[in-house]
Amino acid sequence: MSVFETIVHKTEICVVGGGLSGMCAAIAAARHGSRVLLMQDRPVLGGNASSEIRMWVCGAHGRDHAETGLIEEFKLENLYRNPDMNYSVWDGILYEKVRFQPGIELLLNCSCLDAEMDGDRALSVTGWQMTTQTYHKVEAQIFIDCSGDSVLAPLTGALYRMGRESREEFGEDIAPLRADKKTMGMSCMIQARQETTPNEFIPPRWAYKITEEDLIHRMPDMAQPTENFWYLELGGENDAIHDTEWLRDELLKTAYGLWDYLKNDPQQKEKNKYWHLDWVGMLPGKRESRRYVGDYIMTQHDVRAEGRFEDLIAYGGWTMDDHHPAGFRTSEPPNIFHPAPSPYGIAYRCLYSKNIENLMFAGRNISVTHAAMSSTRVMATCSLLGQAAGTAAYLAVAHETTPRGVYQNHLKILQETLMDDDCWLPFRRRPVSELTQKAILAPEAEALRDGMDRPDEEGYHGIKLQAGEKVVYTFEKPEAVAQVRLVFDSDLNRETEPEEIARLNRNMIHNRPLGWPQAIVPKTLPESYRIFGIKPDGTEELLAEETQVHQRLMKHKTAGRYQAIVLEIVETRGETCGLFAKDVQ
Ligand SMILES: Cc1cc2nc3c(=O)[nH]c(=O)nc-3n(C[C@H](O)[C@H](O)[C@H](O)COP(=O)(O)OP(=O)(O)OC[C@H]3O[C@@H](n4cnc5c(N)ncnc54)[C@H](O)[C@@H]3O)c2cc1C
Repeated sequence: MSVFETIVHKTEICVVGGGLSGMCAAIAAARHGSRVLLMQDRPVLGGNASSEIRMWVCGAHGRDHAETGLIEEFKLENLYRNPDMNYSVWDGILYEKVRFQPGIELLLNCSCLDAEMDGDRALSVTGWQMTTQTYHKVEAQIFIDCSGDSVLAPLTGALYRMGRESREEFGEDIAPLRADKKTMGMSCMIQARQETTPNEFIPPRWAYKITEEDLIHRMPDMAQPTENFWYLELGGENDAIHDTEWLRDELLKTAYGLWDYLKNDPQQKEKNKYWHLDWVGMLPGKRESRRYVGDYIMTQHDVRAEGRFEDLIAYGGWTMDDHHPAGFRTSEPPNIFHPAPSPYGIAYRCLYSKNIENLMFAGRNISVTHAAMSSTRVMATCSLLGQAAGTAAYLAVAHETTPRGVYQNHLKILQETLMDDDCWLPFRRRPVSELTQKAILAPEAEALRDGMDRPDEEGYHGIKLQAGEKVVYTFEKPEAVAQVRLVFDSDLNRETEPEEIARLNRNMIHNRPLGWPQAIVPKTLPESYRIFGIKPDGTEELLAEETQVHQRLMKHKTAGRYQAIVLEIVETRGETCGLFAKDVQ
């Protein structure tokens, strides 16, 4: 018996790990009405995207392929509130999204270390909260492991894999000939800032001596805002979990050694004299460790075949970006970008355990081979996976079933719910409500109900509106309207940003050159709008009024019977704003 108190929490869904995947899982489930507890072992949310690690959010390549749903909501909030791209403000936005979301109980600084089982079913998990010296035991119906390292795998006995599959096992031509335990490594990143005054750098005595020879294929380019020293990577040949503390020491010796080289090497000193060290990560960011085994293991072949699964619930589109396990210590290139199509679908069956009936997962730890994971691991993809897992967990609770039961009986509703929440599912069209279909509208506005909420090779799938313009849906007879759903154009390619930011096309900046511009809210969004209902007697009722609009998906609850629903754009941010969908239901 411990002398420390144990607090027992009873909830419906417990999410372990508050990186972007865990956050999206928790928020998605809570917004649909589930009771959720999110246990996160760090004081900040966001995992590798947080100020503690500082990786920017990447996702599917290609025009108009950017991920929407919750991750776009976070990114747009960041453009609105954080024009300087400051990491503390970003942390605050992520904190706010979870901390003030009704339905979520958030335990920060709480590290999951135990689980209680009843056969193949998890009953509870327990975490140690260091700030309060308290154990928290969480009883739940569904557990979602978003810890990256899959802490619930050893604790529950869930099947998992670690390391690289042999080429033979799945016939993957980018896999090594023989299976091994090697993974991609971890990194402590560096951030630098250009100033108008020069500065000196005295390296710590314990820093490694780095020379030009160590930097073959990796030479830092200080002038690039994309320079984040990601190739300071170690640990792929060690144990990605148990060796982490020792590897942190090695990574810090390497990071400070590299900065010493940049500031003090005779070839580098002069050109880098205005660059100041802003930050060095003390917590290694991890790329790979345990991957769960689900009902399906997605492979390189599925990625290459565009993942056209019937249970497609998210998509990827980053290349298969496989890193050399020796990381910084190989003179070979640090990584190989094996081509992958964009987008490709990811199957729901990769998100729940094959042998633990109420265990789900999302993030880099889903049921994929090492080769497929080298693509699915990027954070916008992980966010979509989290949103899908959270939505599926809500359905499992609502229908008193297991995650597998959702696959067997509720897959269509899972996919439709995700699309309604603005998660694009490639190769599919979002179903449009009956009421929307029977509304009478101007022919040029037909694109608003075609079930596509972004441009593709067929066209824009929306309309452009000027300030003062209206979009009117009229009904043959008065209709009960419970919700008006709008999807605006948030400039997925970020082309309306200042030139440097558009070129960077990332949610945050790393190396900050002098005179870096401020980010803006996409000019394709409206600044303000109003929604009116026309009542059966012909009078107007104001249903919603929004100012300082900075989001893409807007849902407005209404109650009443109306002859028509009118959207009026009051002000735009650019010359026009773009609208992809107006749904009434
Ligand atoms: C150096 C580096 C560079 C990368 N470059 C990019 C890039 O440019 N763009 C990109 O999109 N991706 C990049 N990636 C990959 C990406 O960051 C990861 O694949 C992604 O963060 C995985 O998301 P996740 O939510 O699964 O895990 P994480 O982001 O790691 O989040 C998991 C969270 O769970 C918490 N946790 C862990 N154990 C416990 C526990 N026992 N109890 C409670 N909480 C726990 C962790 O503290 C963490 O906050 C990079 C990764 C690294 C390391």
